[in-house]
Amino acid sequence: MQEARFYSRFEGAQVKCGLCPHHCSLPPGHSGLCRVRKNVDGRLMTLTYGKVSGLHMDPIEKKPLYRFFPGSRILSLGSYGCNFRCPWCQNASISQCVPGDLPDRPAHDPEDDSLTEPSDIVAMARQQGSVGVAYTYNEPAVWFEYMMDVATMVRHRGMQNVVVSNGYINPGPLKELLEVADAFNIDLKSFDPEFYGRYTNGQLQPVLDALKAIAGKGRHLEVTFLVIPGLNDDPDLFGEMVSWIADHPGRETVLHINRYFPAWHFSNPPTPIETLQAMQSIAGKYLNHIYLGNVGQRV
Ligand code: SF4
Repeated sequence: MQEARFYSRFEGAQVKCGLCPHHCSLPPGHSGLCRVRKNVDGRLMTLTYGKVSGLHMDPIEKKPLYRFFPGSRILSLGSYGCNFRCPWCQNASISQCVPGDLPDRPAHDPEDDSLTEPSDIVAMARQQGSVGVAYTYNEPAVWFEYMMDVATMVRHRGMQNVVVSNGYINPGPLKELLEVADAFNIDLKSFDPEFYGRYTNGQLQPVLDALKAIAGKGRHLEVTFLVIPGLNDDPDLFGEMVSWIADHPGRETVLHINRYFPAWHFSNPPTPIETLQAMQSIAGKYLNHIYLGNVGQRV
């Protein structure tokens, strides 16, 4: 447990977190919506600093990043918690756990009870010939402090930092992250603000703002859109979304149109391939790089 950054203190030992657009106000003893940042005696603490849920060498295409160091492998690091609550989450076992559930052992070394130091991650990346480190598996914004400590070391070693995120982070922390991150894959879940409020617990506009900031800084950007039948597969709204992407991050933004499969609280059938192909056709009018994802899996 380590003191968090980006928070304010108020009378009565209340704190307000400024890391993400939820801006949680927390009395002593309470955790934020992400469940991994908690007011402990008037100080906001990050409960997951150095807590690793997964650490694997993956093909960079698995992030997915298709046009950033293609063919390379990257050490992929995950922790716990998320500031969204998408009911179809594929990684709910690590993204939706509460601190009492947090395993206290790094996943890559079951005999080791200690925290995983940033220097250990960087050393592993170098030993294994990784192109860098990817912050992924759960939402890395909610373990911002640990991500930044690792990423700063990675940057100093001349390696790449890849952030796989829902883009739900405030401009201040994002600005710092943009100084050390090289590439992003941002999950854009819908172009409908009501969809965000109803299914994710968040808002659309901050995600759009993050996309613009990433592109404005010149960082490599790929966007993932998971198509859930009946929820976000309206072709007109999808057309508006890809038109917006072309106009703001730009036509060179890589778009992954991914097939949904049932997970966690959602049991709707998988996305028909024909739906994905129709969306690919729409996106092709606006963007130069479009890929279908999860299409090789059997139902
Ligand atoms: S990071 Fe967590 S505690 Fe902070 S505002 Fe977002 S959900 Fe709330």
